Amino acid sequence: MTKITIAIDGYSSTGKSTIAKQLAKHLGYVYVDTGAMYRAVTYYAMQNGLINDSDFNKEALIFQLPKIEITFEFNSKLGFAEVYLNGVNVEKDIRTLEVSSFVSKVSTVSEVRQKLVEQQQKFGKNKGVVMDGRDIGTVVFPDAELKLFMTASAETRAKRRFDELIERGDKVIYQDVLKNVEERDYIDSNRDDSPLVKAYDAIEIDNSNMTLKDQFNKILKLVKMTLEDCE
Ligand code: C5P
Repeated sequence: MTKITIAIDGYSSTGKSTIAKQLAKHLGYVYVDTGAMYRAVTYYAMQNGLINDSDFNKEALIFQLPKIEITFEFNSKLGFAEVYLNGVNVEKDIRTLEVSSFVSKVSTVSEVRQKLVEQQQKFGKNKGVVMDGRDIGTVVFPDAELKLFMTASAETRAKRRFDELIERGDKVIYQDVLKNVEERDYIDSNRDDSPLVKAYDAIEIDNSNMTLKDQFNKILKLVKMTLEDCE
């Protein structure tokens, strides 16, 4: 059966990973959360004293990049692959607001992007992949058969992220989450290397007022149409 590449890009907390996981499960495709890879590099930088509120030792991070190994391991209980940093499961550690507050800065570094994009392209080389991020349809897989660009209002997105963090037991304030979402949107959209932009051939989906089910059905229709076109 024909397999395609599905690239899902968009702003922070637009529910990209939720829909990507659902789709991958439904289609029997591999799901790759590229944000988790940038978060894992950021977590490494934090653990090794390379980034804090006032400083970012970019050169040291670039020098240490060969020492950073990011892998994914499928967790059958959770139904998706968790991210490992140098052999240690960091799936939970990378989802904090603190990591979110540094990740966009780390993601501006071209050497970091180059390393991760190369790995992402390897993950997707046999197609049958759903990958979400910021530059999947523009840089990682510009030839992807289906490209989606997810949007929603900043307030809707911040509320979703806030609820997730609270459910995990993190003590956070809604205003801080909103500020982080807006800051990441700004840095991600304005960086020199691979900024977040909608690919010219991506289909935009504003899910501010959509239920998960409506969104899934709409996207599944697009997948079926794309598959038909490819056959
Ligand atoms: O998707 P998530 O919100 O976990 O991504 C965290 C951050 O990683 C983004 O805000 C962005 O700075 C960076 N990122 C990126 N390119 C990707 C995926 C994520 O620059 N393909």
